[in-house]
Amino acid sequence: MNYCQLCFQQAPTKYVEIHQNVGLLVVRFHRSLKGNFCRDCIGSAFWTYSGITLLLGWWGVISFIVTPFILVNNIVQYLSGLTIGRPNSKTVNRPEATRGQSPVASDPTLPRDSYRLSSSEASDFFSDYPSTVEEAESWTRDSQQSRRSRI
Ligand SMILES: [Zn+2]
Repeated sequence: MNYCQLCFQQAPTKYVEIHQNVGLLVVRFHRSLKGNFCRDCIGSAFWTYSGITLLLGWWGVISFIVTPFILVNNIVQYLSGLTIGRPNSKTVNRPEATRGQSPVASDPTLPRDSYRLSSSEASDFFSDYPSTVEEAESWTRDSQQSRRSRI
């Protein structure tokens, strides 16, 4: 099972990069959020970061050029986040036809509704994932710290 790196819930997650730009004529503040997050956290990060960028992103020469790219990127990341199931959702409608195509779907130990990636994505995705709760906790803590130091 996957853990969201923002709210630490057990939930289907997806790797996204959400950016924010604030232009102050000569200075430019850039902030980004990267990691495996659940659908709810992707949504709230998208609205916060994009909203601030939409209001404050344009005020500078470089900022004016960069802002549309950031907004488009955020929208793409947000939409890709919509393809995963909601946290704690019991029913994610996966079409009958896609069942059995992935190695994980046939594993009875995994909840069926936790999984919505193609098999090639899945092998990348699961290879560096923590397999125990202790591992997951230290892993999310590490990534939180590295993110904090970057901001
Ligand atoms: Zn979350």
